Order: sequence, then structure tokens, then C-alpha cells
Amino acid sequence: MKITIAKSAGFCMGVRRAVDMVLDAANKTSDPISTFGPLIHNPQVLNMLEERGIPAINSIPKNGKGTILIRAHGVPPQEQKALFDAGFNVINATCPRVIRVQTIIRKHAKKGFATIIVGDKDHPEVKGLMGYAQAFDIGYTVSTIDELKALPKLDRAIVVAQTTQDTSLYNALKVWISEHYPHYKIFDTICDSTEKRQAEVREIAQECDAVVVVGGKDSGNTRRLAQVAAEAISHSRKRDKDNCEPFSVHIEDVSELDMSIFQTVKSIAITAGASTPNWIINRTRREIEQSLEKRDKNSFLGYLLAIRDFILRSSTLLAVGAGSLAYACSDVQGVDNHLIHALIAMFYILSMQIMNNLFSIKSDRYNNTERAEFYDSNRLSLTILAVISGGLGLLLSFTTGLLPFLILSLMSVLGLLYNQKIVPTFFTKKFSLAGRKIASIKDIPGSKTILIAAAWGTVTSILPALASSKDSLIFIIPFIFSTSIVFARTSFFAILEMQGDRITGKETIPIILGEKRSQRLIQNLLLLASGLFAICAILGLISTSAILIATIPLLMLYAIKLHEQGRIHTGANVELIIESHFILAGIIALFL
Ligand code: SF4
Repeated sequence: MKITIAKSAGFCMGVRRAVDMVLDAANKTSDPISTFGPLIHNPQVLNMLEERGIPAINSIPKNGKGTILIRAHGVPPQEQKALFDAGFNVINATCPRVIRVQTIIRKHAKKGFATIIVGDKDHPEVKGLMGYAQAFDIGYTVSTIDELKALPKLDRAIVVAQTTQDTSLYNALKVWISEHYPHYKIFDTICDSTEKRQAEVREIAQECDAVVVVGGKDSGNTRRLAQVAAEAISHSRKRDKDNCEPFSVHIEDVSELDMSIFQTVKSIAITAGASTPNWIINRTRREIEQSLEKRDKNSFLGYLLAIRDFILRSSTLLAVGAGSLAYACSDVQGVDNHLIHALIAMFYILSMQIMNNLFSIKSDRYNNTERAEFYDSNRLSLTILAVISGGLGLLLSFTTGLLPFLILSLMSVLGLLYNQKIVPTFFTKKFSLAGRKIASIKDIPGSKTILIAAAWGTVTSILPALASSKDSLIFIIPFIFSTSIVFARTSFFAILEMQGDRITGKETIPIILGEKRSQRLIQNLLLLASGLFAICAILGLISTSAILIATIPLLMLYAIKLHEQGRIHTGANVELIIESHFILAGIIALFL
């Protein structure tokens, strides 16, 4: 079974920017925050915002309190001024592409040009644009060629389109205007985001047995996307080639989906409207995947998939990866007892990761529903496992020396305190960092990624060195290697979980740096780790097995690039591939 997610599925640039802006603002202030009108046409996102205490207000009160966000569609300048006058701190999240149209209108209206807007007169974006036209001169809205023909002849006029307008209609109107009123100035203002999304669904519909369109039933662009998908699939090449009956379905949430419709299906494409968040798209893919796995549950593949899910959710694979990396790092620096260091790392990481996942159930409801459910329903047994595992790690570290034991104990305490409120309320009220109140270690921006990487570096490289009789600083090389690749791995997963982390107020490295800069950082760290190991091995500072281990960060980078290109999708498989790299490092060290 092949499930493909369209590259263009989900938030467009303007919607993503507006959602990020409101969540970032909410994470940085304790003042009331609201949106002027519903932020987007998606009920789950609106519910999530309500839960976060960010309501939508539809009229301007006399006395505004706190912060208000203008959504991506924009508002008339008169309303923007009224919001300021009411006393709100206004955040303007109007999409830059809509601002461009507003600027064109304002500039020309000031010079006396009338404005003709091709669009839906009741759409909030058009109402906002009309406000700019009417502030200085005359504005008209047309949605058909007949309405355009009915307008009076104007001496000077500009023509613009609502950014989500249908291209073929606008092209037809442009032709008519050029023929009858060549003195009108026409601007191309349609956003290509909608067009690209529709073009992609037309393309993927040709090769699939089913297309699932995810998004709000009130969202105009999602409804249109569902229409395009239905039309495309009704003429699909597959229908004739494989003599089958491909179909499409529009859902707002995966709970609406009757999974029996996929009984005989071999390939499914998922796409989504501009107001559908990633977590809903990913949840849809995961639930379809799981239902298909149940279909295959008695097959060999079904068993393999069940094992994969268990080792990922329980963090067993990650813990074995930590043990393998400790084995490799012990080996390259030439210390003895690789196995005991591998076991210490494995038990410590298993314990800390389980505790971390137990504390992250809230954000996992958005990022990884199955993991959240797994941890929610196995709370007690997982807590016991974490305690036993942490205890075993400490016991083993004690057998290697007092100092490794004390360091591991300190790290375990820090790990347990990570989510706890440790700063007294008096100080949190008075002091903040980057606009955030700091009550626990987790509130320090970027702390999760940095501490996880440092903890892995310590258990895989420093503890083995401290336990050894060697008096050398060589452990710094595997420490940098290990810390860099774990930092890259954690940042990569944090990029995939940005939306959920924003909702729950976590400030991870990708949220601080942004996606593009985080991707560059990940790439540079992986290249640094690889180059460092290869050069140090060639210089004879560490064992020659490091030359082969130096390929691990490159392989990891390759997998990340495949994911960026959409050739590996977010979900269990990408987790399995990335985490397996650590195990590969241990295998290389074991056999070389
Ligand atoms: S569809 Fe285009 S213009 Fe509209 S909000 Fe999205 S990116 Fe901006």
C-alpha cells in the first residue's frame, strides 16, 4: 500500500505566518490575546485557539484590552485604525501578498484611479481591499463578466483580483478589458499557492486509487480543491489502464472516514486545503495507515509493522541507538568495557526518553496522536520501566567509578526536574528571557534540544572516558561527534513538530531560528561531525573505524534531504530510518 501526501498540502505561506504569529504572541504574553474574526476556516484550529485562550472577536469594542491579531485576509484601513483607537496592541498578520494588492490600490486611489476588484464581494479579503479603494476614491467589485460589462466607463481605473480568484475567469475578464478599455491598468494579483495545489492534485489523481482531501467544509479553497480532485479522478488514466474505480473523498477530520472504502485500494493520495494544519494531515495519514495495517495484521508484513510501532513508541529503538553510539564512541577513543558503557547509555536514555514522553502527552496530541495514546494508556507500566531502567543505569555506572555515578545521578535529577516549576513565582513575575517567563528548565528557549544533545554526548563519550584509566582529552572528539549528530536529529524532529510545539508553548530551536535556518544548521552539524571523525581518524588521533563511522552523519543528511524532497514522508518510517543510524554506528564499531 502506498500513501502519498501532496507536497502542497496544508497551510499556505500567509496562513502559516498568521497562525505562527498569534501562537508566538500568546507564548510571550500573559495579557489577553484575540483574533479579529476567525483566524482561518478550520474548526479544529479554531477550537485549539479557544483552548489556548485566544478567542475570535467579530466587532470592535469601545475599550479594547490586550493584543489583537489581524488575520491573513487583512481588513479595511478604517477598521485597523479603529482597533488602534480602541486601545488594542494590534499585530498585523495580513499576508504579504494581500498587502501587495492593498498597496497597489492605495497608491493608485490616491492619484484618483478607480479600483475594480475581481472577486467575491462578501469575502473578508475583498472587503479589506475595498476599504483601501474607498478611502480615496471609488471601488467596484465584480465576480462575472456580465457584472464587469455593467460598470460605467471610467476615465482612469485599475483592475486587481482577489488573491484566491479563479485564474481562468480573471484571464477572460482581462481579455475583455484589453479589448474594450485598453487604458485600464491591469495587475496580476492571484496567488499561485491555490493554483499549484490544484495542479498537483490533478497530477497525483492520475496515479492513485483514492484521493483524500482534508480541510474545513466552510473553507472555500478546500471545497474547490475537493471539486478539482473529484473531476481529475473521474478522468484518471488509471481508470482505463487498470480497469478500476478510483474515487475521491472530502473530510474535515479523519473520524469521518469509513475505512472500509479502502478495502481494495492499493494507492492513496492525501491533499489538504490552505487552512488545514499539519497535525490533521499527519493524523489522517497515520490512521489510514493503521487501519490498513489491521487489514494486514495476520500477514508477515502486519507483524513487522506492529513491531516497528512498538519499538518506536516505547523508545526502545532510540535507547538501543544510544547504547550503540556509546559503544562506537568508546571504541574510537580506545577505552575498555564498551559493552558496559553501551548499557549505561541505553538504560539512561530509555529512562529519560520515557519520562520526557510522559510529560509531552499534551503536545503529542498534536504531533503524534498514537504516541500520546500509547503513553496515556500505559502510564503506570511505562513509569515503572523508566524507574527500573534509570536505576539500572545508575547501578552500572557505579561499578565503573564514583565520578561517572555522580555525573549520571546529577543528569538524572536534571532530567526529572526539566518539566518541574523550580523558579519561585516572585522571580518568574519579575524576570523573563526573550519575552518568556522562566519557571522551569523547559521554559528556557531551545533548552530541550541542547540538553538532549549534551546528555547523549556525556553518556556516550565523557562517562566512558572517566571510567577508563587513560588520562587523555581524546574524548572531546567523540563528544563533539555525538553531540552534533544528536542535536541534528533532535532539531530535525522538532521541525516536524513545530506546529504542535507552538500550540503548547514550547520554544524549540526551529521555532527560534525558523525552519530554513534550522535546516542549514542541521546540515552544517552533520558535515562537521563527519569531517571531524574522518580527519581525526586519518591523523591517528582516534581508531580507524571512525573513518567508516564518519559516513553515518552523511547518510543521516541524505535521509533528511529525501524527506525534504517528499520522498520519505513524516511518520513511523522516517523515525525508523533516522534512529537506525545510531545502531549502524555501533555495528560498524563492533565488526571493525
Ligand atoms: S492563499 Fe496566497 S495570498 Fe492568500 S493567504 Fe495564502 S499565501 Fe497569502
